[in-house]
Amino acid sequence: MSRVYNFSAGPAVLPEEVLKEAAEEMLDYRGCGMSVMEMSHRSGMFETIINEAEEDLRDLLQIPENYKVLFLQGGASQQFAMIPMNLMKNREADYIVTGQWAKKAWQEAQKYGKANKIASSEDKTFSYIPDCSDLDISPNADYVYICENNTIYGTKFRELPNTKGKTLVADVSSCFLSEPVDVSKYGVLYGGVQKNIGPAGMVISIIREDLITGDVLEGTPTMLNFKTHADAGSLYNTPNSYCIYMCGKVFKWLKNMGGLSVMKERNEKKAALLYDFLDKSHLFKGTVVPKDRSLMNVPFVTGNPELDAKFVKEAKEAGLENLKGHRSVGGMRASIYNAMPVEGVEALVAFMKKFEKENV
Ligand code: PMP
Repeated sequence: MSRVYNFSAGPAVLPEEVLKEAAEEMLDYRGCGMSVMEMSHRSGMFETIINEAEEDLRDLLQIPENYKVLFLQGGASQQFAMIPMNLMKNREADYIVTGQWAKKAWQEAQKYGKANKIASSEDKTFSYIPDCSDLDISPNADYVYICENNTIYGTKFRELPNTKGKTLVADVSSCFLSEPVDVSKYGVLYGGVQKNIGPAGMVISIIREDLITGDVLEGTPTMLNFKTHADAGSLYNTPNSYCIYMCGKVFKWLKNMGGLSVMKERNEKKAALLYDFLDKSHLFKGTVVPKDRSLMNVPFVTGNPELDAKFVKEAKEAGLENLKGHRSVGGMRASIYNAMPVEGVEALVAFMKKFEKENV
């Protein structure tokens, strides 16, 4: 068996320990004679799995009691619609557009009400986070929306926007559990799990209870009402049970690693290895304003698309996979989520040094 260093933006690398444990439990989960994949979601065995997953996540993020944790399907993209359907009481909300995912969420919200773009960084290809300390927040806005870490462009809100008392809603898909956060600052934070937590097919939404009213926009399907899932403990219908099981394992892995403060230190160390090299390199350049750099997604270019393609090809041959930038921006992107070991980033930097010597 040989595993590569996988820099994919998602689905992405998972901790090897977790994959091995899942493999061992594949045919016979803890003596019950079947795989978790084959198990009723109403069984006692599965109830323990989902309850432990929620408890461990609550521990990791220190989620206050007055927040619900929902394990939902439909991906992060479905939240783009669920959020306005559930929260747009005044039919108005403010969006900060810092990349394609924020833009898609903003465009989706326009179907349900007045979605105001109150700030954007599109003028410079989303390479920075706009100043959000004193924005023109709409008096009628039901919430202010951000995408906290921009997977494609490699930017991250280092400070949350000043929402002037309005509910903050954040898509944290690509920075989920990468560092401690103060959940009480958000009304809703949600993320697809396929980047930093588990396999694809699930989104976790953490929602302050007073926002789950059941009083949703007319025509909202039952499945898209937060209250449906909150009342049923995420078991209204058959959930993505295997994904919940895998995420639960990753939560335990994170706790064993020492929790989110330790992950933050580790992530800062990994990102610094790469950014420090990029800042010194005579060939490669980071594309993001330094103060807004993401710890998770690191885009870079040589400035020559042919050389970029050569780099991606040769890196793959050296066991460094999925380094091609998003199709909309080109160049390269290294996603260095929690489960990417420090050695993976060291190997990437060593390869970049070698490539630079050979090609400058
Ligand atoms: N938000 C962000 C920040 C993302 O990176 C992505 C996926 N790359 C999405 C939303 C969409 O996620 P999904 O494919 O789960 O709908």
